[in-house]
Amino acid sequence: MSMSRLARPLVAAASLLAAGHASALTIEFDYGYDDGTVRLSDGQKAILASVADEFGARLTDTLDAATYRSIAFYDPGVAPTSAGSIVNQSNFTVAADTIHVFVAAAELDALGSATLGSAGPGGGSGNDRGELDVGATDFAPWGGQISFDIRSDWYLDDDPRTLETFSGFDFYSVAVHELAHVLGFGISNSWSTQVNATGFAGEASVAAYGGTVPLTGDDAHWANGTASFVNGVLQPAALTASIASGSRKYMTELDWAALSDIGWQVAAAVPEPENWAMMLAGLGLVGLGLHRRQSRCTPV
Ligand SMILES: [Zn+2]
Repeated sequence: MSMSRLARPLVAAASLLAAGHASALTIEFDYGYDDGTVRLSDGQKAILASVADEFGARLTDTLDAATYRSIAFYDPGVAPTSAGSIVNQSNFTVAADTIHVFVAAAELDALGSATLGSAGPGGGSGNDRGELDVGATDFAPWGGQISFDIRSDWYLDDDPRTLETFSGFDFYSVAVHELAHVLGFGISNSWSTQVNATGFAGEASVAAYGGTVPLTGDDAHWANGTASFVNGVLQPAALTASIASGSRKYMTELDWAALSDIGWQVAAAVPEPENWAMMLAGLGLVGLGLHRRQSRCTPV
C-alpha cells in the first residue's frame, strides 16, 4: 500500500537525523534551586536545552560515572557574593558522560547592576572521572552552577541557529558563555597554567587566533574586541566579558579551541550553510546597543 511506502523513507530519514545529532556528552540542567519569586521561563529552558545539545554534540570526552562524598557550589538562585550562598551536598552522584549544572534565575545586582549571568564549575575533589592529568592539563568536573539575572530585558530566540534583528539581551549568547565557564574557561587550573604575561597561550587557541590571545585584567575572559571565526565568518568571540543589547555571540573557533586547550575533546563543526547565510544577513542589520552588560565567573 502506498502508506507503508511513504512510511519507510520517513523512518530512514529520522534515523539519519538521530545519527547526525548523536551527543557524546550530556549536559544535564537541574532547576532544583530555581525557587525564587521570579523563575526561569519555559522559553529560557528551551534555549538552555538547545545549548546543551550544541555542546553535547561538540564535546566527545568519555567521563566515568562518579560519586563524591561532598560537593560545593554557589546556590544559583542567589547572587554568589558570600560564603552563605554556598551549598554543600553529600554523596552526590553524576552519571557517565554527563555534566550536571544547577541553573536558576537570580537577582544579580549585588555583582554590579549590569550583570547578566554568573557561572562556575563546582567544587568537590577526589574524582578525575577517568581523565588523566586533571588539574594540570585537563579538567573533569561533575558540573557546576549558572545564574541568570531576573531584571535584564532578555531576548528569547526560538531558534538560535538563525539570527533575526532583535532588541534586548540575547539569552542564548549568555547561556553559551556561562556554560563555557562551567567547563573551566577562565576559571580552571588547566586554564591558569597556560596564562602568561601577555595572555592565553594554549596551543589550539594560539593557532586559531594567530598568536597569544589577549585577556581582560582578571585573566578570565578574552580582551574586549577579540574576534574569531564561525563557519568562515569573523565575529566577536563568545567569551569576551560583555555583550551589547541586540547582539548575538556564537561560540567561535577560538572559543572552542580554548576548551580544547584546557582538556576537552572538541569535535569539528558541521556547517549549516543556509542557517549561516541567514545569520550573516542578520549580523549586517544589528548595530551596537547602548547598554553593555557583563557576566561574571564565580569559582567556589
Ligand atoms: Zn564570563
